[in-house]
Amino acid sequence: IQTILLKNRPKGTPSPSDFEFIKEEDSLTVEDGQLLLETLYVSVDPYLRGRMSDAKSYVEPFELNKPIHSGVIAKVLESKNDNFKEGDYVSGMLDWKTKQVSSGKGLQKVDPSKADLSAYLGILGMTGLTAYCGLIEIGKPKEGETLVVSGAAGAVGSVVGQIGKILGLKVIGIAGSDEKVELLKSKFGFDAGINYNTTENITKAIAEVAPNGVDIYFDNVGGPISDAVLFNINKFARTVNCGAIAVYNNTEIPKSISVRPFLIKNSASMQGFIVSNFEDKFPQAIKTLSGWLADDKLTYSETIVEGFENIPQAFIDLFDGKNKGKMVVKI
Ligand code: NDP
Repeated sequence: IQTILLKNRPKGTPSPSDFEFIKEEDSLTVEDGQLLLETLYVSVDPYLRGRMSDAKSYVEPFELNKPIHSGVIAKVLESKNDNFKEGDYVSGMLDWKTKQVSSGKGLQKVDPSKADLSAYLGILGMTGLTAYCGLIEIGKPKEGETLVVSGAAGAVGSVVGQIGKILGLKVIGIAGSDEKVELLKSKFGFDAGINYNTTENITKAIAEVAPNGVDIYFDNVGGPISDAVLFNINKFARTVNCGAIAVYNNTEIPKSISVRPFLIKNSASMQGFIVSNFEDKFPQAIKTLSGWLADDKLTYSETIVEGFENIPQAFIDLFDGKNKGKMVVKI
């Protein structure tokens, strides 16, 4: 059995030396009420960076020298728990281990005949729910409005933009390469895309593609890109503060323009968003997302990295934009 522990709290960008691999003999035993799981897919997500730090946040930090955990899809190898049987597939927050024993608490069965197993970590999992709940509950979209999405070619962003199109919005995405911008338009149906790495004046570029201004800004990145978007907001605009990956590795408090005058003069709002606060909306959200997938109104991309030993690097690569859509590791 292999396990990945958090060895050091990363300083700045995480590095492979922040993680430790251990190998143990398989001596797992299953007690009454428990089940034995084999890990099939591991989700790596930007928010894990926050849990690797010991700063106060909305979830407890990971403990040093203990296994890291994240969203995992696993197969039940043995069950002494009435809710699960051998051969079931489950999704849940589990340790970065090749095999583990679970009490079954927090696990949900997933059906490989309805969707690819990895999709339950993305479009039908946490990132799909984030896109749906964030846009609907905080963005409050209305047909005909203009939506700007940053981190647009990623797991959350690519779904936000597509939902925007389904709801009749004009959708503009910001991403880090020409290839990603092309994908936004060709695969995900965005109206326009901006490559933030090659665009000198993002404020001006947005004004050009959104001549009527920005009504909703779904912010996945924070930092200077977001400042540039906010110069274009309209009266009563809503900003969904979903993520700030551009500053997650900062070692000093980030400096940013003061957006207050723009919010005041536009009566605009900016709201922090954590998907787990919207659990009551999850069943409806999953039903809607599944329906759109079945009707081919929604699609998704995944970057699947193979091998348990590559989990830390896949996580680190999120900060280099190596993924298109959801980054998942197949074990
Ligand atoms: P993504 O699939 O979007 O992967 C991260 C992407 O961020 C990369 O592909 C890269 O794309 C972009 N990126 C990396 N560094 C920078 C940078 N310095 N500036 C701008 N863009 C950068 O991840 P997710 O879809 O899983 O998450 C997106 C955001 O949503 C994250 O900030 C995450 O923390 C947040 N989130 C929040 C949740 C909540 O409940 N609030 C829940 C889930 C996610 P590119 O090539 O375009 O740079």
